[in-house]
Amino acid sequence: MLFKLSQYQSTVSSPLVFRGVGVHSGHVSELHVLPAEPGSGIVFERGDLSAKNSELKGFSASAKHILSTTMCTTVGLDAEYKISTVEHLLAAVSGAQIDNIKVIASGPEIPVLDGSSKEFFSRLSAARKIQDPHKRKYYRLKKQVALSQGQSTLKAKPGDALRIHCVIEFESAKIGRQELVFGESNNPFAEVAYARTFCSLGDFEKLKAAGLGKGGSLDNAVVVDGDHVLNEGGLRSNDEFVRHKVLDAVGDFYLLGAPLLADVYLERPGHGLNALFTKTLLENKDDYLEEIEI
Ligand SMILES: [Zn+2]
Repeated sequence: MLFKLSQYQSTVSSPLVFRGVGVHSGHVSELHVLPAEPGSGIVFERGDLSAKNSELKGFSASAKHILSTTMCTTVGLDAEYKISTVEHLLAAVSGAQIDNIKVIASGPEIPVLDGSSKEFFSRLSAARKIQDPHKRKYYRLKKQVALSQGQSTLKAKPGDALRIHCVIEFESAKIGRQELVFGESNNPFAEVAYARTFCSLGDFEKLKAAGLGKGGSLDNAVVVDGDHVLNEGGLRSNDEFVRHKVLDAVGDFYLLGAPLLADVYLERPGHGLNALFTKTLLENKDDYLEEIEI
């Protein structure tokens, strides 16, 4: 059975709180996810800054607010009013088919939790509340798109659901070449939600030396040293790496502001290329996207 796309909009039935360290900043922060009205979309707010200045309002989860894609996706209004590592949360929001929430972060970064979308997805799915009779808006891709950036390639064509065919290739024999087709089962997001972020031990040490990855540890990332995984419990599945890349893409694509119906092929993807894709579609919306209800 194929995944059933929701006809109606959804929010959460009651507020949810997530607490934890930010993988890059090392700041412990709290995230409040609140119910929101039909048609309001996903709105981010920095609770700590809004408390100091009530004129500071939030911003929508849109590719037009992407500020940076180095290591993670950062969205915001300026160098101060911004929130990093939104992709794992947005992936879970997309996977749970939730349209309208207010997300208030108490600091500059979303808690990384265990490095996957597992907790976000299970709690958001459990709290999901359908906003019948408000119909959900979808973006159907109207024509083919092909983009590349460095070694990353993306090709998309029209489709009737979000299907992602992803290929990655790493030197480490532990990762190697991995391939996944997402979107062809009855609960596709559950098959990637558990996949954690990953890096090589070398990159991990470089990040630390550069003052980044301050909150990063074996509790919230898979660290690969040559052909070995340093985490005590090993991998959650042998193809956890490509599953995480798909999870990242699902989260990044939700910055279109509505669920995308397209067939996407990704080779060696990254946040930079995902952002180029969503920005290209939004900046040329009439050419590429048709707004539909189902
Ligand atoms: Zn990620």
